[in-house]
Amino acid sequence: MPHSVPDLPAPTHPLERLPEEWSARLAEWGEPRFRGEQVFSWIHQRGVFDPAEMTNLPKRLRARLAEEDELGGLPLEIVRHHRATDRTRKLLVRFGDGLDVETVLIPQLKKADPDVQEDDLESDRADGLRPSAVVTQCISSQVGCAMGCVFCASGVAGLKRHLSAAEIVAQVLLGRAQLGEDERLRNVVFMGMGEPLHNYGAVARALVLLTHDKGLGLSTRRVTVSTSGLVPEIDRLAADFDGKVALAISLHAVTDERRSSIMPVNRKYPLGELVACLKRYPLPKRRRITIEYTLIRGVNDDPADADALVALLRGVPAKVNLIPMNPIHDSDLGAPSGDGVERFRDRIQAGGVTATIRRQRGDDVDAACGQLALYGPDGERAERTRRLPVSK
Ligand code: SF4
Repeated sequence: MPHSVPDLPAPTHPLERLPEEWSARLAEWGEPRFRGEQVFSWIHQRGVFDPAEMTNLPKRLRARLAEEDELGGLPLEIVRHHRATDRTRKLLVRFGDGLDVETVLIPQLKKADPDVQEDDLESDRADGLRPSAVVTQCISSQVGCAMGCVFCASGVAGLKRHLSAAEIVAQVLLGRAQLGEDERLRNVVFMGMGEPLHNYGAVARALVLLTHDKGLGLSTRRVTVSTSGLVPEIDRLAADFDGKVALAISLHAVTDERRSSIMPVNRKYPLGELVACLKRYPLPKRRRITIEYTLIRGVNDDPADADALVALLRGVPAKVNLIPMNPIHDSDLGAPSGDGVERFRDRIQAGGVTATIRRQRGDDVDAACGQLALYGPDGERAERTRRLPVSK
């Protein structure tokens, strides 16, 4: 069943129309209601934008859709395509106003990623999919980001603008079109450029579109919204989607003082408020909230930090994903040694909280988390990351 979310912003592009909105539009042309669902499915399920290819529509309707350019086409184009040795693909896409974002296609490794739940693996196996055929797409929700987290390349230039729901969904349609015949897009994560919950209306509409059973039909549990911790919008997401959309929190520090020094959002929504909000997130049984924790050498990698993290998460259905910090240009910050990362993980596990270490994927194309920065068309960084004066 598609989600019906109250107060969704009105569609601004044909790509944003839900089946019932297509029906209303086509009713103005005297068409029966079911035509709306047919057009929606051609676009979102099959990725077809040419009315001439919509073979179950009558010829007169195909002709009118084409004449009036009613479908509008994709609001973006690929301007650069990188493929890493591990088959991770990074696409630089450009919108009509010349602004760019990146989106990344990440194939699951042959041995299943530790983050993948057993019931997800079972449904992949039931569909005859090898783990290596399952692809996760990381998408962007804004150009730049207003949150200013000091370890993140995406936020360096500040917010340029929000993306529309059409621009968000178009990244997925375009990404899916890049897959090989043996690959399937199964997971979408809002972990690219931008704070998705700062662009709530467009992201909520995109979530409804991406999970609609007449469209792409992604399972809500396989769509993850990753946020720096905007408490009112997490509550709104919980209410609008009954807690079914997977949630990831960029936590990265366990005291308000430390977290505020690397994530300014913490000054507005401190840890106590954030954790209380996670406790009331109406998660379905057996699901957990992912806690993203970027390990920064000398900043947040002390054994006492691991103990404090365990204490902080008491009562939250959570799993911790440790991300050894990726190097970013002009930054003094870096990851602890491999042993140090494993010791930190073991300490969390000893406290009774599941913890995994995120593998570096696609780092030869700068596609790892926090590295979706702005590039110029020649491949040079358009904006330099600043030096980061973080002290413990
Ligand atoms: S980590 Fe997320 S919220 Fe923080 S600056 Fe980067 S993109 Fe924005």
